[in-house]
Amino acid sequence: MDPRRVVICPICQTPHLREPLERGEEAHCSRCGATLYRERGALEQWVFIAGVVGLILFGVTLLFPLITILLGGNRSEITLVEGIFSLYEQGFLLVALLALMVLIIYPSLLLATAFLYALALLLGGKRVSRWALVLFTLSYRWSMVDIFLVAVLVAMIKIFEYASIHFGMAFWALLGVVATQIFLVYGVGVEAMWDRWEELYYDKVD
Ligand SMILES: [Zn+2]
Repeated sequence: MDPRRVVICPICQTPHLREPLERGEEAHCSRCGATLYRERGALEQWVFIAGVVGLILFGVTLLFPLITILLGGNRSEITLVEGIFSLYEQGFLLVALLALMVLIIYPSLLLATAFLYALALLLGGKRVSRWALVLFTLSYRWSMVDIFLVAVLVAMIKIFEYASIHFGMAFWALLGVVATQIFLVYGVGVEAMWDRWEELYYDKVD
C-alpha cells in the first residue's frame, strides 16, 4: 500500500485511505466528521490570479509613497525603499538588510514563485513548477509584510499627535499584498499546492 494514500484525521488521528473526489467535494472523517481534504479542482487558476494581482500590487507598493507627513507646512513623502535606505544611511545596516529581506526580497519571491508554480502547472512544466514550489515553501515564512503593516499603523498612531499623516497609494496596495499572501498561504495552503503537484506528476516519469 502506498503510504501517501493514507490520510490521518487532524482531530482524532483515525487513518483513512484517500479516495478520488469530484470537484468541490469534501472528505470527512468516518469517526468524528472532521474535514480530511477537499477537491479544489482549479487550484492553479486561483494561485495564478493571486500571483498576478499580488505582483502588480507589490509593484505599486514599491513605486508609490507609503505615507505623506505634513508637519508645520512641510510636506514629505516616503516610499518603502526610501524608508529602508534611510535606515542604512543612519547607520542601521543590519536592520536595513533585515528589512530588505523580509519586506522586499521574500515577499517578491513568494509572489513570483506562486505565479511561476501556477503558470508551469497550467502549461505542464513539471520541473519548473516543482522548483517554484520549493522556493515558495522556503520564502513564505520569511515574508513579513503583514507584521510591517501593523507596525506602520502603530507608528502612525504615535506620530499622529505631532503631525498630520496620510496613507499613500502604496499603503493601500500593501494591504492588498497582505490579503493576497494570506490567501495563498492560509486560503490555498502549501500542502494543497504540493498535493496538486503530486496529483498531476507523481506517477509520471520524465
Ligand atoms: Zn476524526
